[in-house]
Amino acid sequence: MNSFPNLLSIQEEHSWQYLLSHTIDDPQELLKHLDLPSSLLEGAKQGNALFSLKVPLPFVEKMEKGNPDDPLLRQVLPLAVENSEVEGFITDPLAEMAANHSDGLIHKYKGRVLLILSGACAVNCRYCFRRHFPYQENRLGSEQWQKILDYLNADSSINEVIFSGGDPLATSDARLQKMISDLEQIPHLQRLRIHTRLPVVIPQRITDEFVSLLNNCRFDTVMVLHANHAKELDSSIQDAVSRLKAAHVTILNQAVLLKGINDNVSSLKALSESLFSHGILPYYLFTLDPVKGAAHFDIPDQMAIQLHSELQSQLPGYLLPKLAREIPGKPSKTLLF
Ligand SMILES: *Cc1c(COP(=O)(O)O)cnc(C)c1O
Ligand code: SF4
Repeated sequence: MNSFPNLLSIQEEHSWQYLLSHTIDDPQELLKHLDLPSSLLEGAKQGNALFSLKVPLPFVEKMEKGNPDDPLLRQVLPLAVENSEVEGFITDPLAEMAANHSDGLIHKYKGRVLLILSGACAVNCRYCFRRHFPYQENRLGSEQWQKILDYLNADSSINEVIFSGGDPLATSDARLQKMISDLEQIPHLQRLRIHTRLPVVIPQRITDEFVSLLNNCRFDTVMVLHANHAKELDSSIQDAVSRLKAAHVTILNQAVLLKGINDNVSSLKALSESLFSHGILPYYLFTLDPVKGAAHFDIPDQMAIQLHSELQSQLPGYLLPKLAREIPGKPSKTLLF
């Protein structure tokens, strides 16, 4: 027998790959883990049948045990109400199926191209428009990747590439390294942006390798995180953020305004202030995309605008996120105020 504690497996259990492949996907297990009543199970199973539960353990550990209204739990727990048909809430509110998805490239805004690196996410957020997308585990193949490089090479008006998904950081550092070095060959590209929720739900994702990859590339780098509530932030994220900042990465956050989760001035104020104290600047506060199954999270525009203007009266300008939404066909996000 090995006389040492099983060090290797302890390390493995804390690796982001392990945490990503050992998420909680069973509603019963989640309820048990959080000491929640089994009366929630039937509804959770109904919601789960539409879009499965998926949540990594580090995120579950930030939830309050025994509290069915915990703002982090509410973002991931399937509910029976997701089955309701609500007028105007549709499966593809951003009309993205119609856009260039097969190529993994969306070029809607001037100068910026968004690449769908990976269909996978570490967490299934109940309010997400992705809940109806078939591209779950899609990955760009080498042929598609070459087409993307050709597209970027041919259009010198593009100066920024956005890695998106799904979650682009569900991809290995080796694959990211290869993609980034290919992109570095395209002279007119100046910025690399990464839109990801992974560091919030699995902070271990910010490996030293990943940090040095960004540090060593020639681009100006931006990371846009996605946290909706101050409770999502803690010292492990602060550590990840400070290592990224040491590598000259600008770190922003986008949030979604969600009923029952952050739809009051004190939550939004706490989010902005907590983001800043963790080294992150608020960027966007999006209104909900009208996606089928998420209508119970919706906040009327008037109320969103009112909340935002109250927030403005309580925060310094640099901590006020832009209240915005995406309207298909527009040349940019649309500001609401
Ligand atoms: C949101 C989005 C962007 C980025 O918009 P910014 O306002 O620059 O953050 C770029 N491309 C697409 C397709 C988008 O949906
Ligand atoms: S794309 Fe973002 S918001 Fe949607 S499920 Fe994945 S992590 Fe959540």
